[in-house]
Formats: sequence, C-alpha cells, structure tokens
Amino acid sequence: MELDALYQEVILDHYKHPQHKGLLSTYDAQVHHVNPSCGDEITLNLTLDNGSISALSWDGVGCSISQASVSIMSDLVIGKNVADARVILDSFVELMQSKGLKTGNAEILEDAVSLAGVSKFPARIKCALLGWMAYKDAVLSASNK
Ligand code: ZN
Repeated sequence: MELDALYQEVILDHYKHPQHKGLLSTYDAQVHHVNPSCGDEITLNLTLDNGSISALSWDGVGCSISQASVSIMSDLVIGKNVADARVILDSFVELMQSKGLKTGNAEILEDAVSLAGVSKFPARIKCALLGWMAYKDAVLSASNK
C-alpha cells in the first residue's frame, strides 16, 4: 500500500510537471499517435545524432497515465544511444505485459516502475505504452533518413 501511494505520487508529479513537453521546432522525425479507446494523443519530435537521442520533445492531451508515462520515458531516453534506449523500451513493454506479476527493474526503468500497477488493467496498458510506441516509431523514421 505504501509503495502504491509513492508510485501514485511519482505519476501525479510527472502529470503536473511534464518533462520535455512543448515541441521543439527542429527534428529528424515527427510522429503522432492516438489511443482512441481513452482519447489520449501524443505528438513527438525526435532528433538523432550519431546514434544517440540528442533531442526529444512532445505535446499531448489525455489521461494522467498516458501523459505521465511519456514524460517519464522522455527523461529516460534523452542523451542515451538508441541501443541502450531499446533495452529500456523492451523492459517497459515486458513490464506492461506482466499482468501485475512483475515490479520492473528499477535500475533500468527508474521512475517508470511506478507504472507497474497499470499492467493489471488491460484497458490502461495502451495509455501507458502510447508515448513509448510513439518514440519507437520516431526512431525508426529518423533512422531511415
Ligand atoms: Zn489514457
């Protein structure tokens, strides 16, 4: 219970103070992802430099889970190389598919472990994954340039 309260706080904090929100005008790739079942929308701009994520910015509307998750993801991947960010992405996807059975590797996922409880609610998993899937799509698109 105590842990749940702490996690709620991390999610609310990212929701109220979103990191890297506000689109930068220059980017290698821009993607727009929606989650119609909840009404979440995210536009994400990504810049790669020598295989690293040199800039990532986003804008969006939607539920606290979707907006907090994209904020947490931004914090985690900016400045990392694409391969290291892929490890984080894969770890988060695995956590979301765990049906509430996993707590997540805090060394890799940091604040993102606060979303572990979402994996118990199938309808909300798409909310949590929206920003991460947008990121994945943007990397593909930027890499193909
Ligand atoms: Zn949502």
